[in-house]
Amino acid sequence: MVKIILENITKKFDDFTALDNINLKIDDGEFMALLGPSGSGKSTLLYTIAGIYKPTSGRIYFDDRDVTEIPPKDRNIGLVFQNWALYPHMKVFNNIAFPLELRKVPKQEIEKKVREVAKMLHIENLLDRYPWQLSGGQQQRVAMARALVKEPDVLLLDEPMSNLDALLRIEVRAELKRLQKDLGITAVHVTHDQAEALAMADRIALIKEGKILQVGTPDEVYYKPKYKFVGRFLGNPPMNFIEAEVENNYLRIYESKIPIPTQYRRLINKLDVKKVLLGFRPHDAELVKGIHEGLIGEVYSFEPLGKEQIVTVTIGNTFIKVFVPEGERFTFGEKVTVKIREDRIILFDKKTEKALEFLI
Ligand code: ATP
Repeated sequence: MVKIILENITKKFDDFTALDNINLKIDDGEFMALLGPSGSGKSTLLYTIAGIYKPTSGRIYFDDRDVTEIPPKDRNIGLVFQNWALYPHMKVFNNIAFPLELRKVPKQEIEKKVREVAKMLHIENLLDRYPWQLSGGQQQRVAMARALVKEPDVLLLDEPMSNLDALLRIEVRAELKRLQKDLGITAVHVTHDQAEALAMADRIALIKEGKILQVGTPDEVYYKPKYKFVGRFLGNPPMNFIEAEVENNYLRIYESKIPIPTQYRRLINKLDVKKVLLGFRPHDAELVKGIHEGLIGEVYSFEPLGKEQIVTVTIGNTFIKVFVPEGERFTFGEKVTVKIREDRIILFDKKTEKALEFLI
């Protein structure tokens, strides 16, 4: 178990900057998710931690040890890739044993370690099979076992579940989270799936265009996004955004006016901003029939989801979504008022799309 420190990491491929001055500390035993859209640099960062890529500049430390120049095989890492690439001609036992054989570990010890890790991953009964005789989920566990058998200090996961079907992913992610905590191993997990990152990670680093936009616990990044991008990237449906203009103690939003949320009153004065983006989560508003205090709009559509439904409302020409309990009935075009939970409102600067509290 080690602490990973990334210090001013920049990685260029010719003149393209894939990672732009990354600073990140990953604690002992922490599960860190690297989350971002395709091409944002997540895998490049993971491979840089692994030593497969050498940073163009910056340093990497495992605890106090500077590993920047150390090759992957001497970093004591376990890597699990998107396509697990098990050796097809080897049985599960030999697939798992392979890294230990490379290290010339005595045969008896290999036997013991393979059985131990197989037990932990519930694949003891599969050791005699070939990879093609396994389901996707079983193959994934074998790949995990192969990474863990070396007792690595760091487990590096590059979208290891993307080949699994939706149900299996949910099952495997719970297992993987438990396993990582039981082993107390430091883990870095690359994913573009926000639900997976929220569900599994102790902290999430949001990456966009080679830069880290925000690092925080799932709660922090979900409820206190630093940028509109973060609010939009996390959550399904994502955070709602609507333009608002500051008018004395109020925010004007099309035809509606709501008081400036208490937590922003001083800040708005101090920053003297006039145009903001108001953000709120679909769960943090209530929908009331008719015209009342709040944001007045019209029902555009509704989608039942079992226990609740998502209602899409147009306010001026902005669409927003609100979760509504299942029993409530609305009709297309009906006039409604959206009442947002004041303490959950996040205001962003319209120009920079950065939350106001991060502007000072
Ligand atoms: P994905 O989710 O699609 O895997 P990612 O966030 O992991 O995306 P990276 O694979 O890290 O993204 O790629 C980041 C950027 O760096 C991309 O624009 C990619 O084209 C570029 N890139 C990655 N590897 C190389 C390489 N070996 N040579 C040149 N450019 C590269």
